[in-house]
Amino acid sequence: MEKYDLHSHSTASDGSLTPGQLVTRAHEKGVTALALTDHDTTNGLEEARRTAQNLGLRLIPGIELSASWQKHCLHIVGLGIDPTNPVLQAGIEKQQQLRSQRALKISEKLEKKRIFGAFEAVAQKAGSGMITRLHYADFLVENQHVESQQQAFDKYLGQGKSAFVSTTWASLEETIHWITESGGIAVLAHPLRYKLTTSKLKKALSAFKQAGGKGIEVVTGRSSPDDIHRSLHFARLFELSASQGSDFHNPANEWVELGRLADMPTGIQPVWEMENIQGLTIYP
Ligand code: AMP
Ligand code: MN
Ligand code: MN
Ligand code: MN
Repeated sequence: MEKYDLHSHSTASDGSLTPGQLVTRAHEKGVTALALTDHDTTNGLEEARRTAQNLGLRLIPGIELSASWQKHCLHIVGLGIDPTNPVLQAGIEKQQQLRSQRALKISEKLEKKRIFGAFEAVAQKAGSGMITRLHYADFLVENQHVESQQQAFDKYLGQGKSAFVSTTWASLEETIHWITESGGIAVLAHPLRYKLTTSKLKKALSAFKQAGGKGIEVVTGRSSPDDIHRSLHFARLFELSASQGSDFHNPANEWVELGRLADMPTGIQPVWEMENIQGLTIYP
């Protein structure tokens, strides 16, 4: 039986394992089909593909795109994308520019709080990968400005906090278009993590569905039984297929592990059984 984990991160964005190490760990944890879904980049996919091929693991090429909807940032996972697609790559390039500009602005805000050298440090840490707020959180922890990643978000990086930089990402419609255009399916990531009221979330889901979104994450690495129940309800209400993924970033986080997921509820179509997808695009 396949064991799917359709949401994970590598050093191409804010994960701590290289794509090869990530795929190796997934294999060790019994995952048979893994999607690498780095933030706004497909750069990790080639290395992941090579390791997956060696180990006999199915790799589903993916991405997690930041999308603006009204004043909110939603995360749209693309599964089964073709990373060579020019429309997708043009979109990614725009997102990357926004990320670089935002990173500089975050540093400026931290400087106003007398925290210096953040940009240089995170840029070095991220290397050729995407700079994310998680890099800033780690910088703040390492330099003892805060005690934990959570505190870094609560004090500096979270929405409305002193180093928060509001960013207008590509629209929901655009991101879904890029994914669909490159042969993938768009999945709304971790629907309960946006701090939206139920009525707002329903409006977001309605816009997502209208723009061609096909799936929603019902089971994530941190879902409680109640979370799964609620997400399943939204999946049914908007006739979306159900996805599952750990959103793994770092082995040091003992709460989240590759492949460690509650069972997908029955009575809903999982994304890997979608007729028009035919098991998603699988490397090789
Ligand atoms: P960004 O896409 O650059 O805004 O960064 C968002 C990333 O930061 C997410 O993908 C998570 O990996 C991480 N993140 C967001 N909120 C928290 C939090 N409260 N604690 C730890 N990590 C977080
Ligand atoms: Mn992340
Ligand atoms: Mn996310
Ligand atoms: Mn993620």
